[in-house]
Amino acid sequence: MILENEIKLDFQDVLIRPKRSTLESRSQVNLIKNFKPKYGKEFSGIPIIAANMATGTFKMLEVFAENKMFVAIAKHFNNEWNYHLTENKNLEQVKKYIDYGFYTIGMSDNELLQLIQVANGWESDGGDKSNIKICIDIANGYTQRFASFVKKVRDAFPKNVIVAGNVATPEMVQELVIAGADFCKIGIGPGSACTTRLKTGVGYPQISASIECADAAHGLGAGIILDGGMRCPGDVAKAFVANSDMVMIGGMLAGTDEQDGETISKWFESEELDLIYNGTSNQTVDFSTKKKIVENKYKVWYGMSSEYAQEKHMSGMKNYRTSEGRKEEVEYKGPVQNIIDDLLGGLRSACTYIGSQSIKDMGKCGTLIRTNRQHDRF
Ligand code: 5GP
Repeated sequence: MILENEIKLDFQDVLIRPKRSTLESRSQVNLIKNFKPKYGKEFSGIPIIAANMATGTFKMLEVFAENKMFVAIAKHFNNEWNYHLTENKNLEQVKKYIDYGFYTIGMSDNELLQLIQVANGWESDGGDKSNIKICIDIANGYTQRFASFVKKVRDAFPKNVIVAGNVATPEMVQELVIAGADFCKIGIGPGSACTTRLKTGVGYPQISASIECADAAHGLGAGIILDGGMRCPGDVAKAFVANSDMVMIGGMLAGTDEQDGETISKWFESEELDLIYNGTSNQTVDFSTKKKIVENKYKVWYGMSSEYAQEKHMSGMKNYRTSEGRKEEVEYKGPVQNIIDDLLGGLRSACTYIGSQSIKDMGKCGTLIRTNRQHDRF
């Protein structure tokens, strides 16, 4: 056994150092990034992807695409791709889905076959199948079989953007990039609905993972997508300063209208102060309390390897992911656009604090400082 003594850092262990800046206003900040992937075709957008969990819906993609942001559609909605690409006569919508959607598969030949069929179907309908962005997602990307599978997908789709994960250390990033990944998805155990670290003790803090894995990927002309653990816009800013090329978020979008899942109403009794005014002087002379029933709304939020998800989406399909996920109820948050506005506003502001004109430059312009306490992220 070897004990690595260097302390690895997570979001709550660092802050971004403010710097002199020539930026006059937040509106000067450019959030769009142009990507030139190692193998796949060029593409552009704001480098934020909604996770292929309950947040990976076509409804989410509608809103995200309007904002030039991305969504990895959850596997259990894959049968809708065919409809959206081939039967949909609204070409503008098809373009939106292709430009900003990722088609997610796991590590099975069946899923790859289904993707090939959808891609060929779309091509015979006049589409260009090399524009389909592919996300190969499994919980543990550390097996040789996974690297071989990535190569297989690359052979079938030589010009497509391919994301592969999850891993959290440089040597596996290199292996996956050499096997054909344009981007490696980084994150073992940080997810909001994840219990991997509790169940197995395995994991890697995200800020260190980002810095180390980006270094490995960039050296080979590829990129990384930091996936999981971001709870607020400031965490996303820290991820970009830590050289992540893109980020993937799930929990931050949970509870929104666009998230798939049931809405639950709970009724609470609350006491309300009932002020009684003196009619002549307008001064309060007395008060009493009255009971009021109020409604609080929640949405069910769950990890993709929770028992709940396995029952809901993968009837009979075992081992899609390890059973290291939880189910919880999160407060209902309304339209996701509110969260997007808050997130993009935070990123623009972060850029002005460090003199960065774009997300692309945040790694170059920014400095992370280690802090001595777990500061409040909420
Ligand atoms: P979040 O933004 O919610 O913190 O993290 C989202 C990420 O958590 C997903 O993109 C995925 O990588 C990971 N994830 C989703 N469901 C599960 C699960 O059931 N178990 C584990 N270990 N990770 C999950």
